Amino acid sequence: MAVDERLVRQIVRQICTAKTAPRKSGRAFPVIPVAVSARHVHLCRKDMDTLFGAGSELHPVKTLMGGQFAAKEQVTIVGPSLRPIEKVRVLGPLRKQTQVEISATDAYQLKVKAPVRPSGRLKGSAGITIVGPKGVVKLEEGCIIANRHIHMSPADAERFGVRDGELVNTLAEGERRTLFYGVQVRVDPKFTLEMHIDTDDANSLGRGGIHEVTMLKRDQVVVG
Ligand SMILES: [Zn+2]
Repeated sequence: MAVDERLVRQIVRQICTAKTAPRKSGRAFPVIPVAVSARHVHLCRKDMDTLFGAGSELHPVKTLMGGQFAAKEQVTIVGPSLRPIEKVRVLGPLRKQTQVEISATDAYQLKVKAPVRPSGRLKGSAGITIVGPKGVVKLEEGCIIANRHIHMSPADAERFGVRDGELVNTLAEGERRTLFYGVQVRVDPKFTLEMHIDTDDANSLGRGGIHEVTMLKRDQVVVG
C-alpha cells in the first residue's frame, strides 16, 4: 500500500511534538534506536542438560539489553525440509520454556509453520528439532517469528505516552523508507529504549541498514 508521505509527516508532527524523548532527531521527532535480532534460541534447564550435558552452564560472550546475554553456545535447528540451519546462537539466562526465534526466510528453508508472536506466547506455535553437542531436543511447540517490538522503561513509556502491550507504528528512513505496523510496546524497569526487528525486516530496508525509527501512535490495541 502506498503511503502518503505528507500525511504521515503531518500525523507524526501532531502526535510527537508535544512529547519529549531521550533524544531528538534532526527532524525534531523523538527517535528510537533499532537493534536487529538474528535467529536465536532460549533454553530451559532440562533442554540445556540434554543439548550440552547435565548441569552445563551458558558462557556469556556479549551483554544484551534487559539482563540478557549472547552465549558462546550454539546449536543446529532442523525442520521437515531436513535443510538444517547451523550455528544458531543461544541467549541466556535460561528460561522456563525453550523458545526458538527465526525469520520468515528461515521458516521457508526449514519448512516450519512458525507464527508471528510476542516472545513467550508459545501455545500452538511451530515444532522444531534442536541439535546440540550432547543430544537432540524435539520441540512440539516453541518456534516463532518474533513480532516487532520496542523495549522501554516506565519513564520512556510516560514520555512517549504509551502503555505496555500497546501497538504503535514506526517510520524508518533509509534507501527504502518503510512504515512498520503493529509494533508491540514492552515496558519493564530493566529495559532501555530499543526497537527490535528481525533480519527480514532489516534487510527489506536496503543498503545502509537501519539505526533508528520515529514512533507514530495509533489507537490502543492490546496484543491478543
Ligand atoms: Zn527484544
